[in-house]
Amino acid sequence: MSTADGLDDDVRALRSAFDGCSRAVVFTGAGISTESGIPDFRSPGGIWTKFRPIDYAEFVGSADARLEYWRRRFSTVGDMVSAEPNRGHMAVAHLVRQGKVTSVITQNIDGLHQASGIEEDRVIELHGNATYAACLDCGARHELAAIREAFMDDETLPVCGVCGGIVKSATISFGQAMPQDAMARAESETLAADLFVAMGSSLVVFPAAGFPALAKQNGAQLIIVNREPTDLDDMADLVIHGEIGPILGAAVGVN
Ligand code: NAD
Ligand code: ZN
Repeated sequence: MSTADGLDDDVRALRSAFDGCSRAVVFTGAGISTESGIPDFRSPGGIWTKFRPIDYAEFVGSADARLEYWRRRFSTVGDMVSAEPNRGHMAVAHLVRQGKVTSVITQNIDGLHQASGIEEDRVIELHGNATYAACLDCGARHELAAIREAFMDDETLPVCGVCGGIVKSATISFGQAMPQDAMARAESETLAADLFVAMGSSLVVFPAAGFPALAKQNGAQLIIVNREPTDLDDMADLVIHGEIGPILGAAVGVN
């Protein structure tokens, strides 16, 4: 419902939560990037209505699975390179600049929080980053442009020039170990927060979805902003069902 100040009740509640907190953490999922044109996994038309995910064991165990993985990666659906941050990302960046939000924990692999101007060390990537690749054995970084060129030419699979290991997008697949450093940082930021706002995540992928619950159990206020209901709505202090860009943009005053 709109009121005299022109703000929806939900938007006003979100604004006052940010005003009243001293240390907020924002937790994001694929939903914050759909307004940048990157499909999420679970919405109608999302990536999983088109492809079954290739898990880590399949990737490592089968050259056919690796071929399929890179074909998808370089198809338009899997290509995030041309996407730009949207109003939701810019509103989060504004909150970080104001000092309200100390860090952004993200399940996203698109690098759009960094592209919105947030310093690298304030973005905690739980599922890695799809904008580059890495060797699974020695960790050496590999750029996608060179991999793409060789792959598009005759489907040459990338091999590490340093150690001969298998190269994969620097993301975490199902069945792959979580990045320990990012998990530890996410936990300590979550425990230090008095406000935790989860946006654009169905909150079904664990262990990532454990952070909102941890924040709440630790005494923080929990707010969820998502188009559809999530598994943790019952636990939250405030649930807003709607589009992130318009809601957060209005709450924070970013157009
Ligand atoms: P998800 O697909 O499970 O859930 C996304 C949620 O966002 C859905 O519940 C949907 O209703 C909601 N949503 C979509 N657009 C929205 C909008 N504009 N405003 C508000 N809500 C919106 O995504 P997830 O929970 O992040 O988990 C899926 C996994 O897929 C993650 O681990 C992530 O690594 C990966 N993923 C990342 C990207 C990306 O980096 N952009 C894209 C797809 C998947
Ligand atoms: Zn290597």
